[in-house]
Amino acid sequence: MRMNEEQLNLVKHLLSDIKERSPFYREKFKDIDTSAIVDQGTFESLPFTEKADLRGAYPLGIMAVPESEVVRIHSSSGTTGTPVIIPYTKRDVEDWAIMFERCYRMAGITNKDRVQITPGYGLWTAGIGFQAGVERLGAMAIPTGPGNTEKQLQMMCDLKSTVICATSSYALLLAEEISKQGLKDKIHLKKGIIGSERWGANMRKRIAKELGIELYDIYGLTEIYGPGIGISCGQGFGMHVWEDYLYFEVIDPVTLKNVPDGQVGELVITTLRKEGAPLIRYRTHDLTRIIPGQCPCGNRFHRIDTITGRTDDMLKVKGVNMFPAQFEEVLSKVPDASSEYQITIDHTDGRDVLTLSFETEVPEDKYSTVENQVLKTFRALVGPTIEVKAVRMGTLPRSMKKTARVVDNRY
Ligand code: ZN
Repeated sequence: MRMNEEQLNLVKHLLSDIKERSPFYREKFKDIDTSAIVDQGTFESLPFTEKADLRGAYPLGIMAVPESEVVRIHSSSGTTGTPVIIPYTKRDVEDWAIMFERCYRMAGITNKDRVQITPGYGLWTAGIGFQAGVERLGAMAIPTGPGNTEKQLQMMCDLKSTVICATSSYALLLAEEISKQGLKDKIHLKKGIIGSERWGANMRKRIAKELGIELYDIYGLTEIYGPGIGISCGQGFGMHVWEDYLYFEVIDPVTLKNVPDGQVGELVITTLRKEGAPLIRYRTHDLTRIIPGQCPCGNRFHRIDTITGRTDDMLKVKGVNMFPAQFEEVLSKVPDASSEYQITIDHTDGRDVLTLSFETEVPEDKYSTVENQVLKTFRALVGPTIEVKAVRMGTLPRSMKKTARVVDNRY
């Protein structure tokens, strides 16, 4: 995507004093003449910033303002090792809320809505970002946070929540619970803002159908403000991203070169206005593509496609690279297969065996028919032969957090 003039000016401004402001970039760019970055081409010669770099700067090495200007910190959800701490200034917090309010407006949410926020509050950025956007918009926030499904459903019915914010797996869990408890007539939901993990077309269809709502994908990551840096519009193709605050690139995760618009690769983001912890060419490891051209909705900002996976989710089995999104695509093409699946990889008798387990509603004596359909579709779309196993609905694990769909027993 072409760097526009406004972005180029902001980049130049950012680079003009980054080495003075940030001890982290002073070290990282010590051999780089930042004044030589004058256009998109020279910008693309700058090194990437990796999550590991940020870990190395723990706790506050990436802070680029005097501490007196920092009003809050967040921490990325590191399941292993050192967390990453991101300091925010007053303006960073405001800018994030401005972007989030835009997201809600894009989804047609107004100050008449009641927004139930199920993502977590605390060190990581989810809940509080959703909340700040609601308050800026003037809608009513119902900050339930995650878990306690009974209380969640009680609030949803009694307070007549019109919008639910959730991860896709938690939205699915709530939808299943509403259907199980026969509460469908008691809920008033119209819209769902769904974020923070990949989800396939089948899962989307199930949530939308069971809850009877319109769904919007929201995007973001703690290192870059948090959720709310982009959202899908009514057209449903990809997510508009706020290019007046951020600059987006897509690179080939192997060659690390920029790819043309339309081609899938890894999303790389530069913050254009962030004060507390500016990041330059930050590798998100999220796989997506820039959708070329203008959206039929008329919004001026470009779109990135739904996130199809993580570069580190890439599975190499029998020498073939595969992404979970490909499995989702296969399942979405077989009507009797549901969206819930698990991938297990074992190493037996000297070879890798990949088993795709998926849930289905068909009776057990029809399992082999569905299994054959899935296998045939997989061979046609992806290639290698795998083991396929149908299981009863509700057997595979559901989670309130990111669902672990891949179990690799090889290592
Ligand atoms: Zn649009």
